[in-house]
Amino acid sequence: MARALCANCKTERAVIKRPKNHAKLCKGCFIQVFEDEVHHTITSSQLFHPGEKIAIGASGGKDSTVLASVLKTLNERHGYGLELVLLSIDEGIKGYRDDSLETVRRNAVQYDMPLKIVGYDELYGWTMDQVVETIGKKGNCTYCGVFRRQALDRGAKMLGIKHVVTGHNADDVAETVLMNLLRGDLARLSRSTSIVTGDSRSEVKRSKPLKYSYEKEIVLYAHHKKLDYFSTECIYSPEAFRGSARALVKQLERVRPTAILDIVRSGEDAARLVPGEEPSSCACLGQKAAAGVVVDDDVGGCGSQSGRTPGGEMAAMDKQLRDNEAHEGLEIDVTKTMAKGAVARGEKRDVPIRTGNASKGAPRQVLGNCKRCGYMSSQEICQACMLLEGLNKNRAKIQI
Ligand SMILES: [Zn+2]
Ligand SMILES: [Zn+2]
Repeated sequence: MARALCANCKTERAVIKRPKNHAKLCKGCFIQVFEDEVHHTITSSQLFHPGEKIAIGASGGKDSTVLASVLKTLNERHGYGLELVLLSIDEGIKGYRDDSLETVRRNAVQYDMPLKIVGYDELYGWTMDQVVETIGKKGNCTYCGVFRRQALDRGAKMLGIKHVVTGHNADDVAETVLMNLLRGDLARLSRSTSIVTGDSRSEVKRSKPLKYSYEKEIVLYAHHKKLDYFSTECIYSPEAFRGSARALVKQLERVRPTAILDIVRSGEDAARLVPGEEPSSCACLGQKAAAGVVVDDDVGGCGSQSGRTPGGEMAAMDKQLRDNEAHEGLEIDVTKTMAKGAVARGEKRDVPIRTGNASKGAPRQVLGNCKRCGYMSSQEICQACMLLEGLNKNRAKIQI
C-alpha cells in the first residue's frame, strides 16, 4: 500500500483505500472524488435552485458536519447560489446534546454560517430528560423522534426556510430499505430511497444530499479534512430492529463493498414496481430522477449522525411510530393483481400486496392541520400533541 500510486492522479502516493470500491487514492483525490460525487447527486436530481435558502439539520455529529462542509465547498466552487444556515434541535439531554451543540456553535463560526437552535423545552414545555424522568427510558425515543421532526420544520419556518437538508447517508438508506423489505412493506421501501421527502402540501421540503455517500467515507472525509465534530452517541435506549438491520448492512459490506449501494439501488428499482411511486435515482444510470415530492418517509431523525453501532435509536423509533400511524391509513389489500384465471379456477392465492392508496390514483394521505397546534397532520390531533397530552396528564398526577 505504501508504495502504490494513486489510481487517479498517478503521481501522489495512495494513502486511502476507498470503502466504496477499494480504489487506492491519495488524500487530495479522495476528497475531490467524494465532493464530486455529492455534486453529481445534487445536480442529477436538481435538488436546489439558485437563491434558495437551505437549513442544514445540524447535530454536531459527523454526517451533518460533513454535509455542512461539503455544501459550503460546492456552493462556492460551482456557484449554486445557496444561502446556507445551520439549524439545530436541542432535545434537552444533559451530557449529550449540550456538548454536541457546542460543536455546532464552533461549526457556525468555522463555516461562517448563521445558526438557529430550537429547544424542545420552548416548543413543548418538556426536555427529553424530563420526559425520561416521567415515562422511564423505555419508549422515550418515540417522543424524541416525533418532537424532532416537528421541531426541524418549525425551526425552518421561523427562519423563513422551505428546504431542510439532513445528513442521512447511504448506510442509513440501505438500513431503511432492509427494514422495510423485512417488514414486507414495498410501498414504504420504495419511498425510503427517495432523495426528497416531504409532502407536496408541506411548506418544508426535506432532502438528503449524502444518500449515496458511504458512512465510512464520511468518516474518512471528516478525518482528512480535519473537521470538528462530536462523536458520542445518544445516551437513551436504542431500537433493536434498526440495530439488527444496521449490523446486517455492515456484515454485507465486509464481504462485498458495493453491497450498500446495491441495496439502495434495489430499493430504487423496487420503487418503479410500486404503482404511483416516484422513482428516485441518480441520472447517470439513465433513469429519471424524481421530480415529484413524496410523502415524508425519511430515514430516521438522528440516525448515525449521533454516532454509530446501535445508533439511530431515536430515528428508528420516530420512524416506527410514524410507520404505525401511516399503516392504519395506507394499507389496503390489493387482490386485483391476482391472475384472473386463477380466480376463475377457484384457486386460493390470496396474497395481499401492500400499496398506498396510490394504486387507486388517490392521494396517499389526507393531510390537514392539527386542531391544537396547527402542525400538518393526517390526524385531527398530531402525534406530538397526543404524546404531550399523555405527558401533561402524568405531570398533573405527580403534582397531586
Ligand atoms: Zn491522487
Ligand atoms: Zn399538534
